[in-house]
Amino acid sequence: MRYISCSNIQNGLRFEYNCIKLCCFMGSNTPEPLYLKKDYYGEKLNWNELIDTINVIRENQKNGITDPHCKGCFGLQEQDWDDNKKFKWIQIAHWSECNCNCTYCYRLQSDFVKPKKRYKIMPIIKELDKLDMIDYNGELAYSGGEPASLREFDEITNFFIKKGEKLIMVHTNGIKPVKSVLKGLKTDTMSVTVSVDCGDREKFKQIKQVDAYNKVIDTLKKYVKAQGSNRKMVRSKYIIIPNVNDTKEDINKWLDETERIGIQQVILDFEADWLERNKRNIPEHIDEIYQYIVDSSYKRGLDLQFYGVATQYREIKGLNVDGYGLHQE
Ligand code: SF4
Ligand code: SF4
Repeated sequence: MRYISCSNIQNGLRFEYNCIKLCCFMGSNTPEPLYLKKDYYGEKLNWNELIDTINVIRENQKNGITDPHCKGCFGLQEQDWDDNKKFKWIQIAHWSECNCNCTYCYRLQSDFVKPKKRYKIMPIIKELDKLDMIDYNGELAYSGGEPASLREFDEITNFFIKKGEKLIMVHTNGIKPVKSVLKGLKTDTMSVTVSVDCGDREKFKQIKQVDAYNKVIDTLKKYVKAQGSNRKMVRSKYIIIPNVNDTKEDINKWLDETERIGIQQVILDFEADWLERNKRNIPEHIDEIYQYIVDSSYKRGLDLQFYGVATQYREIKGLNVDGYGLHQE
């Protein structure tokens, strides 16, 4: 049936270090995300209750009533939505430990409250699997802290690979290569994205607050080598951080290094807080640098994708956002 909805309202589920949501994205006009459960630390779930909550959001959306937390989100698009109610877009972000300190990280923000305790996701995934609530024809995305700092990472990854998950997306800082990523890349069903954000050691130190640029480049080389037949599964991401990495020289250095490593797909995004603060008054030089990245990537034959905040930027600028920003192909 044709109506306006979003893939995450239909089939999304996201576990964070202290809550459960439908998505990670706050593309709506409200500052408060759409929580399914706040203060969650791995307690036994009443699935019927949780699914009832989601079904109300889904049914309302089907009837043209958008949850206030989703209003204005670019994820809302009109298309033929099926009645599949299984979780197809699962996001795992239930830990926040990381060996890096990116200046834009949520962990460094003043409102970040250290989680009360760590919890394990595997028992929850197994329970969902038993209930036949997972559609493995979608995407599992890691976006928590750092996968290399997550003890359960191999177990979760291997479970989903065995189940035949169509795509496993790993977001990592690349400081330490992860064994099961090296293995997973060979299967053509795992992608790995590293936010490099620059093309030299000094700039890296400024953004990441650790001196690990060379380690990241070494890891990326290993990942590129480990890819199977799909050579676009290792991705270098660039988050535009105004006044930090927003010159043509910065972009050229990053793209030169990206090509040298043999990476074929790049991802563009913006520092989320900056765009939120400046969305009504984006400086001209940021528009120029955005366009410079787009043009340079195409000229170099690199496949360019946009992440959520870049998609928001595109929407603000009146550019096409259909099919952008929520899930990678
Ligand atoms: S509409 Fe936007 S905020 Fe709402 S669930 Fe979808 S992606 Fe998330
Ligand atoms: S790599 Fe990710 S989790 Fe780690 S500090 Fe950077 S943004 Fe935060």
